[in-house]
Amino acid sequence: RSDGMGGAAALPITISNIRKNYGSFRALDNVSLDIRSGEFLTLLGPSGSGKTTLLMVLSGFVRPDSGSVRFAEREVVLLPPHKRDIGMVFQNYALFPHMTVAGNLAYPLKLRHVHRAEIEARVEKALDLVQLGGLGARGVDELSGGQRQRVALARAVIFEPRILLMDEPLSALDKNLREQMQLEVRRLHDRLGMTTVYVTHDQREALTMSDRIAVLDKGRIQQVDPPQALYERPKTHFVADFIGESFSLPVTVNDGGATLFDQALHLPRKIAGSEPYFLVLRPEKLTLLPNSVDGEAGVNVIKGQVRQSVFHGDSVMIYVAVRDAHEIALRIPLRGNVVLPQPGEHVRLGYGIEDTIVVPAAEQAGGE
Ligand code: ATP
Repeated sequence: RSDGMGGAAALPITISNIRKNYGSFRALDNVSLDIRSGEFLTLLGPSGSGKTTLLMVLSGFVRPDSGSVRFAEREVVLLPPHKRDIGMVFQNYALFPHMTVAGNLAYPLKLRHVHRAEIEARVEKALDLVQLGGLGARGVDELSGGQRQRVALARAVIFEPRILLMDEPLSALDKNLREQMQLEVRRLHDRLGMTTVYVTHDQREALTMSDRIAVLDKGRIQQVDPPQALYERPKTHFVADFIGESFSLPVTVNDGGATLFDQALHLPRKIAGSEPYFLVLRPEKLTLLPNSVDGEAGVNVIKGQVRQSVFHGDSVMIYVAVRDAHEIALRIPLRGNVVLPQPGEHVRLGYGIEDTIVVPAAEQAGGE
């Protein structure tokens, strides 16, 4: 890798049966996950779901009670962090505040006894990579939050790690900067090509950045899939609820088909089992049907009464009561002359059979 920055060969990561208890609390419950070489994989879950613990198991700062972690063929579970050849970025930057930007970047290279001329060349290149060219002599304490996070990123990749681990690196930044940095971090990944594992609790961030997302809840992996598949085909109610906006209605399942209240529901494929299920509705997939027509080909129909409409700039969310006890919502884009239903109005909503998501109501054991 003579050119420096941009040639690091990525490594796949194989996580098998990782368990970690803190006292009697099970932080990681038999987690297995294959991360592909060069992949941008995000660990997504609510607070306390075990994301950071799993990332720390990968970095070597937490030793699991059992299980194995391999980087390609190499078992690393007992190796200390500095022997793993990983780059790391945290939310709080972890920079040396009294050093210059260049000093911070040079530090990991000095530890590795890299020659001075090469250090200078690499520092310059890394600064360019994160759009901080020319700022090497600045003190870290003179930088904005976004600039500091860029320095932390540059430092993490300066020795061309084959694996990059990031724990909520953007969560301290304000919304606009965060969204801009999401794209930048992803571009950096694409440019350098290392395997990246990224922790966030922000589902939109995960959808924006990832090749695949592993959704964690209570120390277990619920589902691992590319963003679109997670959104369109959630396997559990937790995933459907956590990713994107959704509303649920209880359905009963019989002979592979389902019934919503007293009405047969057309499903894209049969479902097995007889436990309670939920129909999961995405607001943008629902359409307003004319009240005059009775049946409708190719769609499922839900009847309800409009409760409230909320203006969102480019769209309106219409909240609809179904059988009084339930509420769903549809999003109507504001284009042309749309006629919006008014509160109190009875409406018929349609959604495509292919878009019909039905998931078990009970929590399931996760797994891939
Ligand atoms: P967050 O987004 O809040 O950081 P997380 O998904 O990253 O959440 P972890 O930090 O992995 O979650 O923590 C998982 C659970 O393990 C939490 O309930 C936490 O309280 C507990 N935990 C983590 N570290 C320790 C520790 N050193 N001692 C005891 N309990 C811990």
